[in-house]
Amino acid sequence: MQDIRWKAFWLLLSLTAFCLLIWLVYDTETALAFFGLGTLIYLIGHIYWLHKLYKWLQKPILNHIPNGTGIWEDVFAMLYQEHRKHSRSQSQLSTALERFRHATSALPDAVVVLNTQNEIEWFNDPAEKQLGLNKQHDESQPINYLVRNGDFLSYLQSDDYSSPIKLKSWRNPDVTLEIQLIPFGTKQKLLICRDVSALEKTEVMRRDFIANVSHELRTPLTVIGGFLETLSDMAGEVSETAKPYFNMMQEQTGRMRRIIEDLLTLSQIESNSKNTEDVEIDMTNMLKLVQNDAKGLSQGQHKIHLEADPTLNLNGAQNELQSAFSNLVSNAIRYTPKGGEIFITWGMQDGHPVFSVRDTGIGIEQHHIDRLTERFYRVDSSRSRETGGTGLGLSIVKHILNRHQANLHIQSEVSVGSTFSIVFPKSRILHKQVALFA
Ligand code: ADP
Repeated sequence: MQDIRWKAFWLLLSLTAFCLLIWLVYDTETALAFFGLGTLIYLIGHIYWLHKLYKWLQKPILNHIPNGTGIWEDVFAMLYQEHRKHSRSQSQLSTALERFRHATSALPDAVVVLNTQNEIEWFNDPAEKQLGLNKQHDESQPINYLVRNGDFLSYLQSDDYSSPIKLKSWRNPDVTLEIQLIPFGTKQKLLICRDVSALEKTEVMRRDFIANVSHELRTPLTVIGGFLETLSDMAGEVSETAKPYFNMMQEQTGRMRRIIEDLLTLSQIESNSKNTEDVEIDMTNMLKLVQNDAKGLSQGQHKIHLEADPTLNLNGAQNELQSAFSNLVSNAIRYTPKGGEIFITWGMQDGHPVFSVRDTGIGIEQHHIDRLTERFYRVDSSRSRETGGTGLGLSIVKHILNRHQANLHIQSEVSVGSTFSIVFPKSRILHKQVALFA
């Protein structure tokens, strides 16, 4: 650019110097005539090359770029270089894109690129088979017109794509699909769909196996427990020395029964995850029941406070949620020494309905917290056993919460206490009218 300016400046300077020379040798009129003629030729030259540039821009083919003269030679040379650079990066980009398309087509998973309006921009071959899309007709069509599945549509409309959804294929009910949306760029989305039928089958087999084993064990255990109880109650049948062993046997059968009951509850929640009907839960009433149960369990050893927003109700599965709330409250009691306090609260926090239980108990070390909802995970197994725990309580709570799209937050400090909070989605809020005058 600097060069071009200098070239133009020198050209004009040379013309002026030449005219000055004419003026010195001849007269003013001749010098002015030469100056005017020179400027006119200069202008005509510019207009000519501008016209050439305009013509070329209408059809910018790299090899047809004009050569130019003077400063226009530099302008066209720069244009040529820029255009070449641009075409090179464009061809590199299309090669990369082509390679990406080949790679994604080789994937067994369906991949669909959606634009900001959720219209299909591109999809690979497996998407035709798994989602029933057609290369001829479906590009540029909104995905919600083509994938008519209620769960998928609510997933698409929600803004939370942190985890995938599983659904039965609308084309073949024997096929289970796992769909994940991944936002990228400026509100574009990548849809990845995977056939998880084989995995799902194994999962169902595992669930059925646990449910069957638990069910089969329940009856013999009930019989053994019953006989042990009868024998211990029969005066003179059990000697004084054998009595402690009898008590231990009774304790252990009781524990096994509780584990089996919890395993059955877990598999019931897992297999019924869609079938339980959601109703409006009167939270004030339910929490009073939970508080009363807690008082029974504590037997006056703890102070149990309840603070609930009377206008806030919840849409959910009544029995499941009552069991989840009771589980957290009973843990708070079991892991809080005598004389401690338990605070049960229900209300809005940061725009979400939140149920929380705070205790002044033994607390939990930080590194255990992420693993507490795993089956049979206990911080201290002997303490859990002592208090009648099975190690399954929090994993039942987690399953119930998953069904309600809710999250469990745990904060704890050793020897200070713990707070377990359930954060529900806003969509589950139901407002209750409270009568001001009775
Ligand atoms: P458990 O039947 O053993 O109580 P859970 O699944 O209910 O099983 O809880 C898992 C573990 O989390 C417990 O063994 C206990 O160590 C810890 N835990 C749960 N709630 C509390 C609490 N309020 N205070 C301290 N520790 C807790």
